[in-house]
Amino acid sequence: MTTSHYIAGRWVEGQGSDCISVNDPALGQPFAEFMAASVAQVDQAVAAARSALPAWKSTGANKRAAFLRGFAEQLGQRREALITLQMRNNGKPRHEAEIDLDDAIATFTYYAELAEQLPSKNRDVPLAVPGFTARTRLEPVGVVGLIVPWNFPLVTSAWKLAPALAAGCTVVLKPSEVTPLIEQAYGQIADALGLPAGVLNIVNGKAETGAALSNHNGLDKLSFTGSNSVGSQVMRSASAQCRPVTLELGGKSAIVVFDDCDVDQAVEWIVAGITWNAGQMCSATSRLLVQDGIADALLPRLQATLENLRVGNPLTEEVDMGPLTSQAQWLKVASYFATAREEGLQCLAGGKALDRDGWFVSPTLYADVPKDSRLWSEEIFGPVLCARRFASEEQAIAEANDSRFGLVATVCSADLERAERVADALEVGHVWINSVQAVFVETSWGGTKGSGIGRELGPWGLSAYQSVKHVTRCLG
Ligand code: NAD
Repeated sequence: MTTSHYIAGRWVEGQGSDCISVNDPALGQPFAEFMAASVAQVDQAVAAARSALPAWKSTGANKRAAFLRGFAEQLGQRREALITLQMRNNGKPRHEAEIDLDDAIATFTYYAELAEQLPSKNRDVPLAVPGFTARTRLEPVGVVGLIVPWNFPLVTSAWKLAPALAAGCTVVLKPSEVTPLIEQAYGQIADALGLPAGVLNIVNGKAETGAALSNHNGLDKLSFTGSNSVGSQVMRSASAQCRPVTLELGGKSAIVVFDDCDVDQAVEWIVAGITWNAGQMCSATSRLLVQDGIADALLPRLQATLENLRVGNPLTEEVDMGPLTSQAQWLKVASYFATAREEGLQCLAGGKALDRDGWFVSPTLYADVPKDSRLWSEEIFGPVLCARRFASEEQAIAEANDSRFGLVATVCSADLERAERVADALEVGHVWINSVQAVFVETSWGGTKGSGIGRELGPWGLSAYQSVKHVTRCLG
């Protein structure tokens, strides 16, 4: 496993001042370390992407699609290594690591198909006024910077890389310093496929490297996934240079359970929405709104299920939930447990760190959480569920929408007409009805309000890397 940076088609050692430690969160111990890229190396990566752009954007869309299919195939060939690395570095249970890999493969395959359709999108525009013709050209935005977090490293990068390369953009990817080895696979695959040098560059590092990329004046666009605090800095740098930015930020999403639900099925959906990836999901449904008629039956069942989850080291045990991925995240979640105690919240399950090595916490449930509790409104990014009861559909919608975020929501009800009505009223980017966290490449991903700007996946994910041009000709 190489531990360096991929710039202009070559693997290079980092010349930055930060040392990056790569940890196994189940043990709380490092298993690799390397030096971050320097600001000068970020410059080199952007310059490499710039010089590769003219040839890559004029490469036929079918040839770009063939490269994308190659990425999908090569990810499959690295299956076992990538699953193990996600288990070891993210702490993901095996089945979750497998799903992430399959998602990344599906993303490259999907954008290969969209790339193949690109020539047919450049077509004439019918005009009402005679004497002119007009045609559309969808052009790549240019050189794009891609900055991603640590919770779904293979997936988040695939959602940006695949459409950007399909559109004809060249890229500089900065993975998270918490999980920097996983995306090395994309550089290794670029090498194996003979992707032209400079089309894909990878620089690793912490905030300094990220800021060097997001402030760089050689980019045409920046696409960022991560926290709101860094997202607003990234937006400021985009604003300073008047260039486009896509932001995929945090969430505090609701799961609304009406009293016509099957209790066991509802519990299954609720638990998956808060314990998948140990709750470290922008789309975690961390606010449970449960209707009065079902609450007394559901909450004890939920408590028992959370208490019985198998939490442990995914590399050595059969587990339902692994550790939190970083010590910083573990400390952050523990600080919310302390806040909950100070606020006097009613804890039905968990509420503590596990007494063992590594960065484990118990799946946690607080009941009847007041609306003004910090735990009700702030993104915790851990397996911490807060519940409130509601009486009517109107109240459920109002409480679900009463958030500065608007990423996703889940609606559980046997009355499908009602579920669809509620879905339409929720101010979020994606609603699941009677299902949980089901993301398909054909549908969009992204949020309203504080959850970000723009959409990934689907044709919208491709448009994010395209610039629309029209050529209008006078026939006279
Ligand atoms: P983060 O904002 O701390 O880091 C994200 C990336 O930004 C990392 O690569 C980091 O090194 C880099 N970075 C840090 N400081 C920077 C700076 N000053 N300038 C430029 N880049 C900088 O986020 P995180 O802790 O890695 O991830 C968790 C957050 O990501 C959560 O808030 C979560 O909701 C969000 N997230 C959102 C989505 C989505 O699709 N909406 C998906 C996954 C995660």
